[in-house]
Amino acid sequence: MAHIYDAIIIGGGPAGLSAGLYASRSKMDTLLLERAKYGGQATTTEEIDNYPGSIEECTGSSLTERMRAQAERFGTSFVKDDVIDVELNEKIKKVICKKAIYEAKTVIIATGAYPRLAGFKNELELRGKGISYCATCDADFFTELNVAVVGGGDSALTEALYLTKFADSVTVIHRRDEFRGVKYLQEKILNNPKINVIYDSIVLEAKGEEILEGLNLKNVKTNEESFLEVDGCFVFVGYLPISKIFEGKVSMNDKGYILTDKDMKTNIPGVFAAGDVVEKNLRQVITAAADGAIAATAAEAYIQENE
Ligand code: NAP
Repeated sequence: MAHIYDAIIIGGGPAGLSAGLYASRSKMDTLLLERAKYGGQATTTEEIDNYPGSIEECTGSSLTERMRAQAERFGTSFVKDDVIDVELNEKIKKVICKKAIYEAKTVIIATGAYPRLAGFKNELELRGKGISYCATCDADFFTELNVAVVGGGDSALTEALYLTKFADSVTVIHRRDEFRGVKYLQEKILNNPKINVIYDSIVLEAKGEEILEGLNLKNVKTNEESFLEVDGCFVFVGYLPISKIFEGKVSMNDKGYILTDKDMKTNIPGVFAAGDVVEKNLRQVITAAADGAIAATAAEAYIQENE
């Protein structure tokens, strides 16, 4: 007979890791499935200075590795496998992966989100050839070169500041005349001598044969077009939920974010969701971690009520 876990957590970012910690700490037999690397999107940011207690030299990777080790210490089992389907309606839920099928009394969906494309010409063709979606991963390639950052939210502003440690110049291209990111970051951007800002502008096309040579820009107010010579272009224009395999299986909004109540319960009994994949207002490491803790606690209560 197949082993039946108390909880299967799908996704090993801060939400999943926190769910693992809380579930294991309350003696639930817990399996965490992750298809790529533990830590999720938090590993793609170098500096995390707004997670309480993360003050000195706290990188996304170091913080989430501590979360992983902590969950493991309390007994969470970790398996690298890629979920391809789920059967959630019965009392025992099935999580069908590439390598095996796993069964559990509860499932916590913590699959997170992935970067959106800005949608300009040649964006995909030059991805990895000058166009990047991760400054932590790629900033080093642009040491003493000139880069652009597309976007005006917290991600774009945070990563633009980080890129100044490597690049000679960072040009932030934002489609409006006002940033969406928090004031604190805006001030840092505007006071950094290495950063130029181009407002009211979008990228029409990335130019370059083998590698990126520059960007064709358009001012959306004047319709004036210009060319910006850059070696790198980092795109941070928001994220999309990783929820396709749950379509038609749990309730979600029209953008694919999973709907939960305050206990992180989905519309399916025994199925919970946590972190960036959930419909909510604030997507941060701290809210992902909080969701995970709430989901695991609710999963434990669900098992007690149903046994
Ligand atoms: P976001 O807040 O949704 O901002 C996306 C930015 O990209 C906006 O400025 C938007 O312009 C622009 N944009 C969207 N589509 C575009 C397109 N096709 N072409 C050009 N520009 C486009 O996304 P985010 O910055 O990734 O942040 C996501 C969440 O993570 C937020 O809740 C954020 O607070 C959080 N976060 C927090 C931190 C931190 O606290 N340090 C760091 C990173 C992320 P408009 O402004 O015109 O809509």
